[in-house]
Amino acid sequence: MKTIAVVTSGGDAPGMNAAIRAVVRTGLHRGCDVFGVRWGYHGLVFDEMQLMGLREVGGIIQQGGTVLGSARCSEFRTPEGRQQALDNLSRRGIEGVIVIGGNGSQAGAQALYELGVPVVGVASTIDNDLVGSDITIGVDTALNVALEACDRLKVTASSHKRAFMVEVMGRDCGYLALMTALAAGAEAVVIPEAEKTPEEVAEVLRRSYQRGKTNGLIVVAEGAKNNAEKLDAWFKANAPQLGYELRTTKLGHVQRGGAPGAYDRLLATRLASTAVEYLCEGRHGVVVGTIKGEITGTPYSEVVGKHKSPDLRLLKLADILAQ
Ligand code: ATP
Repeated sequence: MKTIAVVTSGGDAPGMNAAIRAVVRTGLHRGCDVFGVRWGYHGLVFDEMQLMGLREVGGIIQQGGTVLGSARCSEFRTPEGRQQALDNLSRRGIEGVIVIGGNGSQAGAQALYELGVPVVGVASTIDNDLVGSDITIGVDTALNVALEACDRLKVTASSHKRAFMVEVMGRDCGYLALMTALAAGAEAVVIPEAEKTPEEVAEVLRRSYQRGKTNGLIVVAEGAKNNAEKLDAWFKANAPQLGYELRTTKLGHVQRGGAPGAYDRLLATRLASTAVEYLCEGRHGVVVGTIKGEITGTPYSEVVGKHKSPDLRLLKLADILAQ
């Protein structure tokens, strides 16, 4: 393989830049030309890509986000859009593509692979809902950002006998919320996989106040049916007596923009470098992730259309430890 391309797609995740750097430098080391594709699949469809040299990826390992840009590209979902991408790849002589992204991005990668393009995926999403990797690039940093915010909120909450409802990211998966709740010592967690009614949340806070706690913390995943907005509206309308004064904070995109920590830099570096090796050795149609500590390639057929859920036994542990 002489010419390859690298794409970052879907939601950005801290560590994507470390992955881009590893692809470019491993590729150049193996004697390949490496194109960086701009704005996710948009760059493949509309031919926005550029050759990357060693210096183009200098000084990015410590930056959050992705220097290539990412986007959600509706054209790539159509056969015409994918044909356009195929034409652009073949005109430029690109023989293989590395796709760094989450569930949707790997579905797109599989579609490209089925058109005959050698493709290897790199597991990257802060949601940690991708089958094929126990943990994905960006999760650890996003978790630490959420945790730091919760720690700070608990400090100010204690000073005023307040409770905070904190909404963290996770459209379809409660992993970030559950792990944040466990690590921050939250009184309760509301996730799509285990919903709680507003009455149940109110009762948890009331009991926590009665046990003498000076602050309360409820972590809510944005994808929960009872997300922070809905819970907040219910609490305002019903004004139950909690003991605490209740405040709501949505962390939102703050969780995405952080500088990647050591864990994500190392994970991204190892997965992305392995993805280049796989591509060059003819091991295509897999997502590179880490399973039980080993770097592993999982075929697209076992990844796409599936959804990984967090370990719900941890809900019970979070409840016990919040006493
Ligand atoms: P994250 O979950 O971290 O936000 P993601 O990779 O799951 O990341 P999506 O928005 O689901 O993000 O998908 C990214 C892009 O992948 C889409 O905008 C689209 O261009 C492409 N894509 C998704 N699903 C398909 C599909 N079935 N066929 C072709 N392309 C797809």
